[in-house]
Amino acid sequence: MANKELLRCLFLHTQPPLYYEWPAEGGSPYLGAAHGLMGILYAMLHCPPLLQDPMAVMDIKAGIRYVLAHEQDVPGSPSGSGGHYPTQMGQLKRNSDRVLVHWCHGAPGAVFLLCKAHEVFGGGGDGAAYLPAACRAGEVVWSRGLLRKGPGLCHGVAGNGFALHRLWKSGAGAKWLHRSQQFGLALGDEEVQQTFHNPDNPYSLFQGSAAGLSFIADVLAATNAQHHHVASLGTDAGPVKASSVPMMLGFPLYEP
Ligand SMILES: [Zn+2]
Repeated sequence: MANKELLRCLFLHTQPPLYYEWPAEGGSPYLGAAHGLMGILYAMLHCPPLLQDPMAVMDIKAGIRYVLAHEQDVPGSPSGSGGHYPTQMGQLKRNSDRVLVHWCHGAPGAVFLLCKAHEVFGGGGDGAAYLPAACRAGEVVWSRGLLRKGPGLCHGVAGNGFALHRLWKSGAGAKWLHRSQQFGLALGDEEVQQTFHNPDNPYSLFQGSAAGLSFIADVLAATNAQHHHVASLGTDAGPVKASSVPMMLGFPLYEP
């Protein structure tokens, strides 16, 4: 076993600070954004008093390193492409047949965590790994993430589309806006809609059409801003800066 891989295995056998199981009794050590460490770390990155405490920052960064140690290749994808995350912490089994690419479990939750970490800590030191890892997770969302579980945030097209949109807003490049636009178009396509399973709560934000509307509104705001930018500067204008796009809706947990 290569030294790097051996170190990764040893690291995964140690419990990180902020280790978390859900539910508290008889639960599982989930890794993802809805029930696991990614979600806990993401919330902590939004707490300014915590970020002024050097001990807390050390624990948060150690937690993010632990999350990153779980990165895997999607089964069947080129070796070293990475970007995929298992559902539970400490899992050493690679290339499980069950590849979940949802906000609640898997790569989309990693995108939000790593983009926020990049925003908070910048690109120096540990931070050099954050945005490239977020982009690898984004590639998995782009290739695997047009879900049939409905339009929702938790395990639906809008949740995964927002991950692509978040990468564009983090300055990862115009292709991520293009990709989020394609997810928006897919959401509005009747043939795609007919493939959706019926969510338990079809109008809700977490499972249903409220998420689809929220996502399309944000993508439209970005697209309109880009058109105005090109019209005002001429056709040679570069991509519009995400920071100049007015936010129309947004929703809790995804954006500060
Ligand atoms: Zn879910």
